[in-house]
Amino acid sequence: MAIAETNSPQQEKVSSEASAGEKKRWTLSDFDIGKPLGRGKFGHVYLAREKRADPYVLLEQSNHIVALKVLFKSQLQQSQVEHQLRREVEIQSHLRHPNILRLYGYFYDQKRVYLILEYAAKGELYKELQKCKYFSERRSATYVASLARALIYCHGKHVIHRDIKPENLLIGAQGELKIADFGWSVHTFNRRRTMCGTLDYLPPEMVESLEHDASVDIWSLGVLCYEFLYGVPPFEAKEHSDTYRRIVQVDLKFPPKPIVSSAAKDLISQMLVKDSSQRLPLHKLLEHPWVVQNADPSGIYRA
Ligand code: ATP
Ligand code: MG
Repeated sequence: MAIAETNSPQQEKVSSEASAGEKKRWTLSDFDIGKPLGRGKFGHVYLAREKRADPYVLLEQSNHIVALKVLFKSQLQQSQVEHQLRREVEIQSHLRHPNILRLYGYFYDQKRVYLILEYAAKGELYKELQKCKYFSERRSATYVASLARALIYCHGKHVIHRDIKPENLLIGAQGELKIADFGWSVHTFNRRRTMCGTLDYLPPEMVESLEHDASVDIWSLGVLCYEFLYGVPPFEAKEHSDTYRRIVQVDLKFPPKPIVSSAAKDLISQMLVKDSSQRLPLHKLLEHPWVVQNADPSGIYRA
């Protein structure tokens, strides 16, 4: 796949893959650009509407409203993340799941790369968590079950996300959770040894740079579940080295406040297990009493 190729300015457009296999070429002139939605490390994200009402157009299902992520090639090159972006695009564009943010396609010009993304109308989960401090068991379980279903789908396609955390989760118009940001994800048939991600969410085997597999996402989901219920990740510490030590030792403590049910603590304890082969498989998570009793089957949290 040829994206972010700065050496070929004559090649202004590139075909992106459409759902039925047909090819569609995008350019910036296909979109009306609206308000800025946020600022990323390598550029900005804008609300956008596709102009043409072409019956073959890929974006029909989105009512032509999308989020356009604009990345500067110079910044991508400076940080040497072109390869990572290429992988992100390749992986995310092939995933179709209600809890995974769609990547409809991409195009580029001389200076920028544009990603055409599903618009998540209710924004970042991170901000919701900051606002509420922590979530109710019902809300937490609904999100955790949605994420487990999305990860089961990814793992079935040999995709490991490896970077599940509140900053990478968006909320759709109905209140449904969407995994975004596949920047650290990997398409794997082998066990991987790459070190990546923010320390707080990493399992012992990744902190120690040992081999790892899809069960890294179970660990991260356990960390996330804890953070939903308590408002802080479980191994947080002032010093990086202390977080490292707490993860490796699985120094898991449940504070007295806020009050969390023993069923929730049981689930978290079964996910945050040092031996990755002993972590609760995701399909078992969906059958855990805490999830069954608390998660809304629609996957939608209604305040
Ligand atoms: P990365 O996490 O890969 O480093 P980034 O943080 O630089 O990327 P994003 O998180 O993708 O950039 O986007 C920046 C902000 O724009 C997000 O935090 C979010 O508020 C907003 N945003 C991004 N994508 C969407 C979307 N599809 N729908 C709604 N808002 C979005
Ligand atoms: Mg981000």
